[in-house]
Amino acid sequence: MHIGIIGLGLIGGSLGLDLRSQGHYVWGLSRSQSTCNQAIDIGVTDFAGLSLGDIKTFAQTDVIFICTPIDAILKTIEAIAPHLDSSIILTDVGSVKASIVHAAQKLHPRFIGGHPMAGTAFSGINAAQANLFQGRPCVLTPNDSSDPEALNILRSLWQSVGAVVYECDPEIHDRAVAWISHLPILVSAGLILACDQEPDQAIAQLSKHLASSGFRDTSRVGGGNPQLGTLIAEYNQKALLDSLKQYQAVLANLIQQIESGNWQNLEKSLVLAQELRNSYLII
Ligand code: NAP
Repeated sequence: MHIGIIGLGLIGGSLGLDLRSQGHYVWGLSRSQSTCNQAIDIGVTDFAGLSLGDIKTFAQTDVIFICTPIDAILKTIEAIAPHLDSSIILTDVGSVKASIVHAAQKLHPRFIGGHPMAGTAFSGINAAQANLFQGRPCVLTPNDSSDPEALNILRSLWQSVGAVVYECDPEIHDRAVAWISHLPILVSAGLILACDQEPDQAIAQLSKHLASSGFRDTSRVGGGNPQLGTLIAEYNQKALLDSLKQYQAVLANLIQQIESGNWQNLEKSLVLAQELRNSYLII
């Protein structure tokens, strides 16, 4: 197939590497010339430019993935929609869906939202890596008016790079990922910020030396891309706040168990957490 990727960073770059290794022709668009040069050098795209006018093979394009930061996705679709043939399948990889999908479908009816559940703590073209989506979930958010053929093609493309594809409404997606992706970013960032509140400098310094695998695991997503975390909070505000407030209530309950020395109840909570954890690690 002939595939376009707009936004050549961690996700767009990783997708390009995998799609090209499947034999697809991939062109890319990004904001900076150095990113475009790097994309070609490391094999993310066959060609990359700064505007649609640079893409000589644009008319042959079958599918375009928008992989820009969340706040640029709709602006990008608005800019390219007038140039798109109605047969081109348009999709995105944004971490939130409801605020994008409805508007995007109006701009280009062959748009179907997507969100691969894969990432690292790094960003930009140099963070691109092959097989990032291998064994990871990827959500597609079609609705009743979505073209079934476009949905089949997107499903197959994501499966071809190793993703396990799920489908759901955009609003349901946003509430589900608020729990398992967006809440953990804030909880993990809060953990790092809280550790830094230790007033005794000697203890603060020692804790940095002693931090090992447990801290590495629990701080990983809080130490990721700050712009992405902020945009997620802005574009999924309600669902994120609901989950944060529920988390606060659970934390208050754990504090109460410790304050009152109710070790039996605390152990019950931790046993339940240990059992429940496996049900979130299906893949
Ligand atoms: P990223 O590494 O920062 O890459 C985004 C790239 O988009 C940048 O390298 C930038 O390229 C380019 N860009 C920025 N504004 C642009 C514009 N207006 N037009 C064209 N290109 C533009 O970010 P990312 O982590 O790949 O995230 C991209 C999307 O994936 C976001 O919507 C995010 O919600 C979603 N996502 C992220 C993760 C994750 O864990 N990181 C996981 C799943 C989904 P230049 O270098 O040229 O400036």
